[in-house]
This record gives sequence, C-alpha cells and structure tokens, in this order.
Amino acid sequence: MSEPIPLSQPDITEAEIRSVVATLRSGRLSLGPRLEEFEHLLTQRVGRRHGIGVSSGTCGLHLSLAALGIGPGDEVITPAFSFVASANCILHVGATPVFVDCDPRTLNMRRDEVEKRITPKTKAIVAVEVFGNPAGMADLAALCAKHEIPMVEDCCEGLGGRAGDEPIGGFGRVAVFGFYPNKPITTGEGGMIVTHDDRIADLCRSMRNQGRAAGSIEAGQGLGSWLAHERLGYNFRLSEINAALGVAQMRRLSELIEARQRVAAAYTRRLMGHTDLILPTVEPDTFMSWFVYVVRLSDRFSAKDRDYIINGLRRHDVGAGDYFPPIPLLPFYRQRFGYQPGDFPVAESVGHRTVALPFFTRLTDREVDLVCQTLEVMMTRITFARS
Ligand SMILES: *Cc1c(COP(=O)(O)O)cnc(C)c1O
Repeated sequence: MSEPIPLSQPDITEAEIRSVVATLRSGRLSLGPRLEEFEHLLTQRVGRRHGIGVSSGTCGLHLSLAALGIGPGDEVITPAFSFVASANCILHVGATPVFVDCDPRTLNMRRDEVEKRITPKTKAIVAVEVFGNPAGMADLAALCAKHEIPMVEDCCEGLGGRAGDEPIGGFGRVAVFGFYPNKPITTGEGGMIVTHDDRIADLCRSMRNQGRAAGSIEAGQGLGSWLAHERLGYNFRLSEINAALGVAQMRRLSELIEARQRVAAAYTRRLMGHTDLILPTVEPDTFMSWFVYVVRLSDRFSAKDRDYIINGLRRHDVGAGDYFPPIPLLPFYRQRFGYQPGDFPVAESVGHRTVALPFFTRLTDREVDLVCQTLEVMMTRITFARS
C-alpha cells in the first residue's frame, strides 16, 4: 500500500523552524522587527509602497473595505464563484454584496458582467484571482477607474503570479494576500494588505491595532499614546511568530513557485487530451504561481457523480475537494438573501463539476500519476454504472 496523499501540505524546512525559534528566543512576540521585515519583503516583491500584515486574509479584506469607508447602504460587487471570505467581508462592514456570475473558462468575473451590475450605490468591487489566475484583472481595474470606484483585489490565492508586467497584488487600489497553510506561502494564519495609497495604509495600520495612531508601535513602550485610541479598531495584528515564518517563506518564494509549477505541469501533461476533463487554462503572457490544481468534469457528469468521484478518491487515500460551491447558494446566503438555484448558472454548473486534486510542492511525478489513475478509475465506474 502507498502512503495517503493529502489535498495540500505546507512546505516547511529547517529555515522556517530556525526563524520561528529565533523569534521565540528574542522575547519580542508582537509588533516587532519580523513583522516589518515580512512587510518589506512582500511589498518589494509585488512593487507596492505599503504592506500591512494582519491575522488573516479575511481580516485584510474586512479592513480594506472599512478603510475605504464602505458601510451600510453601500453595494459592493463580488464574484459568485469564490471562497466565502470574499463576500463575508462585505457583510462585516454592513454593506450589501452584489454577486456576479463567472466566466466559464477563466472562472473570474468578466468586465461586461460587472459593468451591468454597477449602480449609484456601488462603492467598491472585490475582484478575486480565482485559483490564482489573474485573467481579466487589468480589464476590471480599467472598469473601476472609468467609474471611479475603488477595486479591492482579493489575491489571497495568487502570490507570485503576474499578468503581463503587472504582478498579482498590483491591480487593485488595495490588494490582500492570505497565508493559510494551503496558500502559495504560509504563516499558519495570516494575511497582508498592500497599497500605494498612504492614507489607506495609515488607516489599515491603525485599525488593525485597536484604532491606535499609525506609528504607535514604538510608542507602545510608553502608556501615553499606546492608549490613545483614535478610532474604532480591531485586533487584527499578525504575531512576530507568524511573521518569522512568513519571512522564511518569502526568502524561498521563487523555489516554492518553481516546485508548484513543476507539479502543475506534471498534471497537465498527464491529463491533457482527456475528453471528459476540462483542465485549468492559463492566458497568454501570464505567469501562474499555482494555488491549486482543479479539474472540471464534462457535462456528462452530474454533481452527484462528482461527489462520488471525490469520495472514491478519499477512500483510496487521495485528498480531493469541491472548490467552490457558489457563495450565494451557501445556506447562510440563501436564507438571508433568498438566492435560488439558477440565479448564477455558470458558477453553479462549474461548482457542480470541480475536483481539486492533491497539490503541494513535494508531490512527486509518481504520486501525480497515482492520483490521475485513481481519478480515471472513478470516472470509468460512473460510465459503466450507466451502461
Ligand atoms: C484564502 C482566501 C481568503 C482568506 O483566507 P483566510 O483564511 O482568512 O486567510 C480570501 N479570499 C480567497 C479567495 C481565499 O482563497
């Protein structure tokens, strides 16, 4: 028997362990040099002036909308096909999400579909690089510029990618990365807001730290200004321990991306030409850092078939997932807003047929082959059961 193959696995080496241990020994566990270093390394990489480390990608999205002054009565456009956080952040600030169906090929929102939903109440657009694919982001940024609406780029899945000359994280007025263990780099839990906008950066820095004045990190040594809360804030700080992990991961970013590209290429080689599978597409002039490897079953397969395949993979110790069920059809959103099946036909059809395959840096070609074989066996069983 072979070892179980997980859906995802972080790439942690001695370098990460040394970095975290050194921080533990330093005695400084919050708001210190490692956070500043992590913010510096990431902003350098994506070419943005400011980086604000926060405790999760979700907190980063929430803070970005709060810093943009979005609140009750405002509408924010967001994709139906994404992870739930890219809509929840809109509810966290009391605004109303307006969902847009996805493009069937790139799985991102399309400019023309977004434009149709813009009203005088639209105060921002949360544009997501779904599965780390920057397809259409430049178009969405241009649309936002035309309507003078800020774009919040939810690039939680895309660190290290690029479209043309623009790195992921460079499209929105504000962009947010996430560092959950399955993301391109991890800090355990964590996120980072990046922006060129000095005012937004100051607001985010203040609000992540209970509304203290930006720059009161040093002031924290004396009680005076440490307790001078200027505005309603949150505790969304990223600890030094998490930041130390992030610093070590950032230093290995190129190596991590290379490994992800190797695994994606192995899957594509192995599955290319399969008549019942739609593989991820990469636009011309695009560099993908690869977040996940998600294949889609052809229309011959139903949602039930897909679930059977996922369960079959798991029974054979192969991790698999169903990224993503459309957000508006999640129980909470259906109850609150009354969305119905059929409201977002593309996201629904795609969401019924996705199979996320094991994807992480250390996956070997042999394991990729085993995963694909198991997938094919499960698909064949369904075909036989029908005939
Ligand atoms: C991971 C992710 C987030 C944020 O995740 P956290 O777990 O809060 O760090 C937000 N949006 C998308 C699209 C994501 O994939």
